[in-house]
Amino acid sequence: MSSEKTPIPAGSNFIRAIIEKDLSQNKYATKKWAGSPGDAAHQDTGVVDVAKIRTRFPPEPNGYLHIGHAKSIFLNFGLARDFDGICHLRFDDTNPEKESQEYVDSISDAVKWLGFGWNNTNETNLYFASNYFDLMYRAAESLIETGHAYVDEQSADEMRINRGTLTEAGKDSPYRSRSVAENLTRFREMRDGKHADGSMVLRAKIDMASPNINMRDPAIYRVRRAHHHNTGDQWCIYPMYTFAHPIEDALERITHSICTLEFEDQRPFYDWLLERLAEAGLLAHPLPKQYEFARLNLTYVVLSKRKLIQLVEEKHVSGWDDPRLPTLAGARRRGYTPAGFKLFTDRIGVSKADSWIEYTILEDCMREVLNVDAERRIAVLDPIKLVIDNYPAGQSEDCFAPNHPLKPELGKRTVQLTKELWIEREDFMEVPSKGFFRLTPEGMVRLRYGYVVKCTGCEKDADGNVTVVHCEYLPDTKSGTPGSDSVKVKGNIHWVSVAHAYEAEVRLYDRLFKEAHPGEGKHEDGRERDFLDDINQDSVQVITTQLELSLKDAKPEESFQFERHGYFVADKKDSVAGKPVFNRTVTLRDAWQK
Ligand code: ATP
Ligand code: MG
Repeated sequence: MSSEKTPIPAGSNFIRAIIEKDLSQNKYATKKWAGSPGDAAHQDTGVVDVAKIRTRFPPEPNGYLHIGHAKSIFLNFGLARDFDGICHLRFDDTNPEKESQEYVDSISDAVKWLGFGWNNTNETNLYFASNYFDLMYRAAESLIETGHAYVDEQSADEMRINRGTLTEAGKDSPYRSRSVAENLTRFREMRDGKHADGSMVLRAKIDMASPNINMRDPAIYRVRRAHHHNTGDQWCIYPMYTFAHPIEDALERITHSICTLEFEDQRPFYDWLLERLAEAGLLAHPLPKQYEFARLNLTYVVLSKRKLIQLVEEKHVSGWDDPRLPTLAGARRRGYTPAGFKLFTDRIGVSKADSWIEYTILEDCMREVLNVDAERRIAVLDPIKLVIDNYPAGQSEDCFAPNHPLKPELGKRTVQLTKELWIEREDFMEVPSKGFFRLTPEGMVRLRYGYVVKCTGCEKDADGNVTVVHCEYLPDTKSGTPGSDSVKVKGNIHWVSVAHAYEAEVRLYDRLFKEAHPGEGKHEDGRERDFLDDINQDSVQVITTQLELSLKDAKPEESFQFERHGYFVADKKDSVAGKPVFNRTVTLRDAWQK
């Protein structure tokens, strides 16, 4: 049933190869093309340089963008950038009920955040499909006039039954042989609000026996009384996606229309429609060509707007930008970075083979980028007090911590050492397990960037929980001084001065789903699983931490490596000046690897 497959050159991005070939054959090399009256791509200059490739990223504004969209954005905008072409951000807003301005805005934000813009050339490359409703209507009338479309008044059920099946041809509608005049009258009545929603549709007249069901007279216009976020109540008929999309591409002079594999079987209709409209003089050659690639499937998340809407509306998460969601707004708050997404999309590549990508690959990309980009800071996430009994009370001294081990040019910062420090609870064990080289009675450890200390014991509460750890320091062993090596120790722990700490809220995020393929398979009693059944109930832990003082000044969206813990970002939304809260972006190592 599927149409001709495009061959994939081994080891390369097949779309890139196609573009290189097209450019080498001068496929688009004509002088500036003056365009047709309806041509959308010459809105500024009146001419279009068709020698350039044009791609588009065409989201429907019916939800926030997710990580799958990032793949499409890097592909489309990336190709345009690499081949000196143009990529349009086009809102495919032909389906009024589910679309809104909030979604339009969030999508624009996400695309800009990933590093792509518009208005940055002498052309405006921001488009709305709803601006072409007049032209789409004209295209529909043109199809009627050339005998390629008819108004069908069968009920939805009749239409479905008469469409046939994969193995059986469909049956012609009794309305299929109406005259052009009759079709035009009916279609205009549809437009003028004379017919009820769902009472009739305009269909392309192709072939009810086609082996490709998409070619069995697909519907192209329907009656729908719905308010549109852009055109208001101007229209009560709306074009179907499969009709609108090729026309949008053609009007914008798109050369390579890149979409996901599920549209492969739509390609014959895409080509059929544009050819008919070109024959009628409404469009000019070269016409856009559609190419399909495999969508991104990522383990442990859901990448479907429908499911994301459900998670948000049913309040399984705090909103579209919840840091656990795979939306780009959520990923941004989580501390994922555009450079990390770029690395990820480069690494997974573009192919025609459907596959699942392990979530750890995405996390590794974020780690790799943050390892280079993020400065180091000290954070005690589960604090317990350490008292250096032989250190003078009231004294404090400077210790020097490098800001970035890979970038000595970023220098060192000062942290204060005092008699009372915060250390991690897990860095002390009264009865050490085998191989434990941190604090334990009589044991020695280095306070990172400070002194070697020897543990002398601990205090406990009535329940036997350790409340304070005691130690003595060895005065000659300060890091960075000649004597620092005189005492060798195996362990090295981080700390924050009690008198110089910033007590802060930190959110430790984990995966939102427990299963790699949420909702797949069956329950033990045979019921189908739902993706909501696989939600990880422990996907966030909010803790009170002790951080080095400089973190008090962290700006929203600034990322750091908290030494020994992972990468953290100052939350974009909940931080206030002088009181940032931090989100864990990713741990230093993968805790899910079995
Ligand atoms: P969803 O399936 O999540 O509802 P969609 O395909 O309906 O998404 P659109 O707004 O139509 O969302 O998507 C805009 C563009 O992003 C389309 O070209 C689509 O092919 C592409 N896209 C959507 N999801 C993915 C994905 N998982 N991987 C790669 N590209 C995607
Ligand atoms: Mg879609």
